[in-house]
Amino acid sequence: MKPIGVFGGTFDPIHIGHIYPILDVCEITGIDEVRYIPNARPGHRPTPRTDPNHRWNMTVLALEDYPQLVADDREIKRPGKSFMVPTLRSLRTENPFRPLCLILGMDAFLQIRNWYWWADVLRLSNIIVMNRPGAKIPNVLPVWWEQALQTQNRILYERLAGNIVHVDVSFIDVSATRLRVSMSRGDESPEGLPESVAQYIAQHQIYTAQGVAA
Ligand code: ATP
Repeated sequence: MKPIGVFGGTFDPIHIGHIYPILDVCEITGIDEVRYIPNARPGHRPTPRTDPNHRWNMTVLALEDYPQLVADDREIKRPGKSFMVPTLRSLRTENPFRPLCLILGMDAFLQIRNWYWWADVLRLSNIIVMNRPGAKIPNVLPVWWEQALQTQNRILYERLAGNIVHVDVSFIDVSATRLRVSMSRGDESPEGLPESVAQYIAQHQIYTAQGVAA
């Protein structure tokens, strides 16, 4: 069965660094369905100032042109903190026979031990790690990382969960934090935003209204 890609984030705002590298992952691995799951109240970082409904709407707009990238509102709708493990459990229940592949940028992957129930992630899902500008692998490579570099992508089709692979994606040097800072300083169309998202932000004055960038 074809794996399902799972891509979570605050998407505050969603930008091209959230899209082009995932399209690379799809092309390289053959995955043709990636769920974009904006979190409502992230478990491992402060809750974004931007209303979850705005972050959801921006995600939907950004993905309009890409049928293989699907916005999924389960964390927006779920009350309480948006932990990834319950999200993976619900996807597993809905798709008992399809491998799940949680896709993480290197920065997020290096923080995974700060997540609640992080050890359960690999029981429920495989992990695809994408390189990201600025995120460095520690000098001394952990054993699991050496294994990830040698693991073939086809394992993502063979195992429902439990494997880590590294996928080499285009370097897109954009971050949501930098975009928020630019926009709060008055830059109305910073580079890195999909056009539809830039228009939505301007229409709702999302980041200028926040004043100081979070
Ligand atoms: P912030 O600056 O607010 O932390 P962000 O740009 O890192 O935001 P998030 O929503 O926190 O975006 O990230 C969601 C996921 O997207 C994470 O796995 C992160 O590593 C990945 N990601 C974000 N930007 C890029 C990028 N330019 N290249 C590759 N992965 C990225």
